[in-house]
Amino acid sequence: MPHRIVNVFNDYWYDSRMRVKDVASGLPKTDKLYLKDSYLKEAYSKIIRVVREKGKRYYLVLASSIFHSLGGGQPSDTGMLLASGFKFDVKKALESGGVVVLYGKSLEGEPVEGLEVKQELNWERRYLIMRLHTAGHVIDRAVSDTLRNRIDTMGALHGPPHAYVEYKAEISEDQLIQIEELTNDILDDREVLIKEVRPEELQNYIYGAPNLGRLPEASVYRIVEIKGINAIPCSGTHVSRTSEIGRIKLMSVDKVEGGSRLYYDVE
Ligand SMILES: [Zn+2]
Repeated sequence: MPHRIVNVFNDYWYDSRMRVKDVASGLPKTDKLYLKDSYLKEAYSKIIRVVREKGKRYYLVLASSIFHSLGGGQPSDTGMLLASGFKFDVKKALESGGVVVLYGKSLEGEPVEGLEVKQELNWERRYLIMRLHTAGHVIDRAVSDTLRNRIDTMGALHGPPHAYVEYKAEISEDQLIQIEELTNDILDDREVLIKEVRPEELQNYIYGAPNLGRLPEASVYRIVEIKGINAIPCSGTHVSRTSEIGRIKLMSVDKVEGGSRLYYDVE
């Protein structure tokens, strides 16, 4: 049986993905504001679809989103939608076919299509996720260097409740200590750059990237480069300098089918 990552976010996703697909059906792709500016904490947008689940719980789609949806190893953002007489608690952001679907509960008023709302991100949570996700890319490099081989990843969760990356390799407790040391040695204060490149240019820009054997086809790839560490196709939100991460701690290593799961944190 293939290894299945069990956590509250993914379970939620498996249960509700059909519902999310229905909600997103026929809508244009969402303008993902977080891809252009991961430090954006507020933005205005229009509600373009409202589907009531039950009571005060709804699925909503906005024309543009500052909420990163669950996926690519990143947990979902949370936050609020606000307008005059309207307050909505965004509990999850999910995605289907490029459309970001927000799920949550109305605290005041009811959502209606066409309503202009202010999106407010739960910034404390998002910023932690940004630090953890960038840390995950640095750990990728340290794992490959320590094991003297390019190591593919199998899964990841770069955020609360527990951050981890799964590597296609056996990693011992001793190696875990070496990886932690190396991770913090190379961390430094490096620039993190985001670039969009066409498929034919990809090989000129990426280095040290895992999983290239199973890179999905796309017309444009978003590359996250940590200067001198690696440049990886990734749609996540990152800090702009590695000094924002703080110290990276590798908490433990668990054996999982096909490899090892490294739990880590930042402090
Ligand atoms: Zn990434």
